Amino acid sequence: MPAGETFEFQAEISQLLSLIINAVYSNKEIFLRELISNASDALDKIRYLSLSDPSVLDSEKDLRIDIIPNAEEKTLTIRDTGIGFTKSDLVNNLGTIARSGTKQFMEALSAGADISMIGQFGVGFYSAYLVADKVQVFTKSNDDEQYLWESSAGGSFTIVQDEESPRLGRGTRIVLHIKDGLQEYLQESKIKEIVKKHSEFISYPIYLHTQKEVETEVPDEDEEEKTEEGDDKKPKIEEVDEDEEKEKKKKTKKIKEIKEEEEELNKTKPIWTRNPSDITQEEYASFYKSLSNDWEDHLAVKHFSVEGQLEFRAILYVPKRAPFDLFETKRHKNNIKLYVRRVFITDDCTDLIPEWLSFIKGVVDSEDLPLNLSRETLQQTKIMKVIRKNIIKKTLEMFNEIAEDRELFDKFYSAFSKNIKLGIHEDAQNRQSLAKLLRFSSTKSGDETTSLADYVTRMPEHQKQMYYITGESLKAVSKSPFLDALKAKDFEVLFLVDPIDEYAFTQLKEFDGKKLVDITKDFELEETDDEKKNREEEEKEYEGLVKTLKEVLGDKVEKVVVSHKLVDAPAAIRTGQFGWSANMERIMKSQALRDTSMSSYMASKKTFEISPKSPIIKALKGKAAEEGASKSVSDICHLLFETALLSSGFTLEDPNSFAKRINSLVALGLDVSAEEEKAEEAPSAAPAAAAPAESSMEEVD
Ligand code: ADP
Repeated sequence: MPAGETFEFQAEISQLLSLIINAVYSNKEIFLRELISNASDALDKIRYLSLSDPSVLDSEKDLRIDIIPNAEEKTLTIRDTGIGFTKSDLVNNLGTIARSGTKQFMEALSAGADISMIGQFGVGFYSAYLVADKVQVFTKSNDDEQYLWESSAGGSFTIVQDEESPRLGRGTRIVLHIKDGLQEYLQESKIKEIVKKHSEFISYPIYLHTQKEVETEVPDEDEEEKTEEGDDKKPKIEEVDEDEEKEKKKKTKKIKEIKEEEEELNKTKPIWTRNPSDITQEEYASFYKSLSNDWEDHLAVKHFSVEGQLEFRAILYVPKRAPFDLFETKRHKNNIKLYVRRVFITDDCTDLIPEWLSFIKGVVDSEDLPLNLSRETLQQTKIMKVIRKNIIKKTLEMFNEIAEDRELFDKFYSAFSKNIKLGIHEDAQNRQSLAKLLRFSSTKSGDETTSLADYVTRMPEHQKQMYYITGESLKAVSKSPFLDALKAKDFEVLFLVDPIDEYAFTQLKEFDGKKLVDITKDFELEETDDEKKNREEEEKEYEGLVKTLKEVLGDKVEKVVVSHKLVDAPAAIRTGQFGWSANMERIMKSQALRDTSMSSYMASKKTFEISPKSPIIKALKGKAAEEGASKSVSDICHLLFETALLSSGFTLEDPNSFAKRINSLVALGLDVSAEEEKAEEAPSAAPAAAAPAESSMEEVD
């Protein structure tokens, strides 16, 4: 064969390869699962193409996988009649372009992950090097010549046009040169065991080629005597007529012949067509693994059929973990395999299941869809819409079943709560039933979390709305000044600290007929007649201070109000009901690629609230009454405002001015004179403070 072109492996792939080739790892058998799964994918691809253009199968009609061990040459060959690789597929897919999974898999490994997880990261092919020190990929695509890819790892691979080896028709033949000491993978029984364990549910026939030594009898007239002596070799078939047998013995001899045999290893009929009550948990788990490339069992499964106007069967699974790239937009979402009357159609049908359920794995087998579907008609058919609706319904049923088992549900929720919240955001129809699955910490939940339904059972009679607070972390929200008034009334407040929570709740709006209220925004708190009277009196009393504050703070605040929703804290900042909350403003600011044009409309309109119960505010009222908006009143107002921004979850636009105000206060407290302060600061580049301490605070405005 002519010398091929040599290519360097991309650096991360090269690293991965040496990791795999040197792995001291006992569960090497998973390589076969990975290669069979790739073969099955390649067959799926050509079958899908053939639906719109049957002639693509002309190059090779039989869709199958063959496994051919050769003990003498120490090779194991895996052959499929799938789509094959073009030359550029070989270059790109087997070595020069690393996918995100390459790096992530290595990171996972160094964090203690198991090599058998490889398939999940989209680099399964390289697991061949667990058992082989050299791998050859002979391949033929309909769109190119036959090529041979070859590598013994070590940083490079070669590709050469292959004109010498047996013609492939179409598909791929992978030859593994098995490492010394791993001959067990060439044994018939071992291969059968591995295929049974990992690949039983592959939907193309897998044939194991075996070489059997068979004894055949051939005519042998010269050696009549020897065969006479061979009487002790008892004939196996006892009923045979003795005379006839002697006759034979005289004329034949036995010779050993090597005979090739093929045995189909996966004859089980599709699991979804069977009766659920006849299927064991092990079988479901095994099917799940072959479907998902997962190395662990599933968390839950739902096997059902729909009959009537439309007929289909399906098995849906919830995995134990979220995939590493769950929310990556470029992710290939091959999660639900669509079959039509047992024939695989596609695993790339985004219309079968909504985005927020993209972690569900499974199969759907329709009796009604036409076989020769193009992708476009597939997306449009009404049948698909009905199937989709049913899948969502059954999935929700499965979630509710999971919720009955506390431990199981905890696992489910920690893996997929973001999806549930995304579902609430996107799926208006199922919003309320999804909301039942939500769990949050709250002012009354202690170390546990609570469901919204449980919250409702704890509501005092006079509480009409359900309250929540949004923020960056439990620590930040659980001490918020906004909680005080609600605690005083014995009203529970839910803590929403996942960025997606606020999106979900803004869509949800209510639960069980009760309005959901963000207490960091403007809202009306239920009040008794006495409370109302009291509030109106105090509003009058503080009118003057409110005016002064608005005068001092100007455009920084939308309005200043006397608040009865605060207790201990002197002041806080709430936002308007329809703009961003402090939390949303933080989230938006942190999104680097965000379109900034929205900010001016949505940016929080700030209401500065002061608490008449606070001694500080009482004192400030007196001072403002005497001095009006004097410099020192103004300084205090600014400090109160900036501190309120912080405790209400905002960030400061000008932290330096704030720091200077605080430093001046510290100086006052420590009796440090302005001169001393100035002397200290002199060498620095920014001379800020001037004469007496009090006026140094004014400078910063
Ligand atoms: P993946 O998880 O994407 O299968 P692999 O590393 O196992 O990752 O394979 C890399 C790519 O090589 C596959 O995505 C596929 O495009 C291609 N490939 C692998 N095996 C075959 C095969 N038997 N026939 C055709 N293409 C294959």
